[in-house]
Amino acid sequence: MAIYKGKGIGEYMASGTLRFFNKKSKNTTGVFEIGTVPEELEKYQIARERVSRALDRLYERAIHEVGKERAEIFEIHKMLLYDEDYCEIIELEIKSGVGAKEAIICATNKLIDVFSSLDDEYLRSRASDLRDISSQLLNNLENNAGAEKIDTSPCILVARDLTPSQTMSLDKSSLLGFVTFEGSATSHTSILARAMDIPALVGVGEIDEAYDGKIALLDAQEQALIIEPTSEQIIEFEKKLEQKKREKQKNEQSLRALLSSPATAKNGHRVLIYSNIGGDYEVEKAFENGAEGVGLLRSEMLYLRSSRLPCENELFEAYKSVIIKAQGKRVIIRTLDIGADKKVPYLDLGSEENPALGFRGIRLTLENKGLFKTQIRAILRASIYGKASIMLPMIISRDEVLKSRELIEICKQELFDENLAFDSKIELGIMIETPASALIANDLAALVDFFSVGTNDLIQYTLAIDRQNPRVAELASNNLEPVLMLIENCARAIHQRGGFIGICGELASDTSLTQRFVDMKIDELSVSTPYLLSIRRQVKECF
Ligand code: PEP
Ligand code: MG
Repeated sequence: MAIYKGKGIGEYMASGTLRFFNKKSKNTTGVFEIGTVPEELEKYQIARERVSRALDRLYERAIHEVGKERAEIFEIHKMLLYDEDYCEIIELEIKSGVGAKEAIICATNKLIDVFSSLDDEYLRSRASDLRDISSQLLNNLENNAGAEKIDTSPCILVARDLTPSQTMSLDKSSLLGFVTFEGSATSHTSILARAMDIPALVGVGEIDEAYDGKIALLDAQEQALIIEPTSEQIIEFEKKLEQKKREKQKNEQSLRALLSSPATAKNGHRVLIYSNIGGDYEVEKAFENGAEGVGLLRSEMLYLRSSRLPCENELFEAYKSVIIKAQGKRVIIRTLDIGADKKVPYLDLGSEENPALGFRGIRLTLENKGLFKTQIRAILRASIYGKASIMLPMIISRDEVLKSRELIEICKQELFDENLAFDSKIELGIMIETPASALIANDLAALVDFFSVGTNDLIQYTLAIDRQNPRVAELASNNLEPVLMLIENCARAIHQRGGFIGICGELASDTSLTQRFVDMKIDELSVSTPYLLSIRRQVKECF
């Protein structure tokens, strides 16, 4: 028996046979006859055409399955496929007398060396995309076939890393799960896995190939892969899996019944149940599962997935798409909350001793007014398609709110002068993520329409518990009272001013606290889509 720990994606579980995917040995074997230069050039061009068409198909499929933003990786692949330097090196190599296969390998290695030596993290990551492209080209040369298909007849697939195109090509009906040696929770593979509902464990480190074909248990929630488990472990795992399946089924049945029944506590207090999302690809699922609005659109996700600063129009289109899909329900768009653990390679933020206490959220955007205004203009322009609200992260003072309001007014004036429509009555809210904002809630309530409590950070800053550090995570659950007292203070303050208060941190989905939130008259709880139903039910059981 061997246990590997990694980063689990989602709460999923799978048990089955491990199958190692060794792309290298698959693609570099095979004897090739080298033809004349024109023949080799033609071989390469045909292969390139085929890969291009396969990428188009993958792009279409990805749009359908995981949304436009995530599908963009296949557009990037296509750009790399036709990259001038790449094509030129390949053609020059062929003209120098080597075959198409050698030319592709040589050009790929040359460019990978260049990418890998760069400081820019984003460009470095293009090296693995180029490897993906090259393997598809080679595969086409070898097989005269389309994009690589991985044999995934019921198994847990093990790979060093899976490229986005490989992940998209996986036959989900027979794939039980996958494990990668490399990768993090934010790698393309993990992002796609989450959107595709595939259980996955990434960043587990090297696993010995001798385990190929062995039975394993993958528990993403426990972040563990158990290879060759004992019979007791199998029994326990199967029990847990069965229980999970039953719970899921039961929840799905209840959902149908609950969809038409609002979350009103027995004392008559009505709570709106909203969803937290990262982009437009999550909206439909949220509304299908009964979301009554979007309580937190983490707009930084758009930035994290991009290779450069998104422009106003790109942001506008992204927000507009969410707002249209929300069909008049409230969509709270948080302005860029970047910094601390959320770094974007193209914004050089420098390194900080204590990034969580550093240059992040509203601090960063107020110093980069252009960045802030671009976002605000995009939100304002999108606001005419439904009901949008602006929310500011990491507030600690009145001054920050006043400066933000000033910039919002400037944006409104600009749009007015440019004859661009916007909702002039758009709501403005702030995140309560710091004890400072919770303590001056009275003052802040006078400046905004709503509060939304970000308990993930509020716990971190109130209890001095690093949210990234698993060693102190337990401390939080036993010491929540000070945090709840701060939330109570905020609820009182904003209600006195006629505004509303939501909670969008993870505590919102903690059913043991729902009664307490109802007692505080919290107006809205915003949770991840899988929790919408259980929270709705819990509110209805409150007094
Ligand atoms: C929070 O801090 O609770 C929150 C919702 O924001 P994030 O998790 O994105 O920091
Ligand atoms: Mg936060």
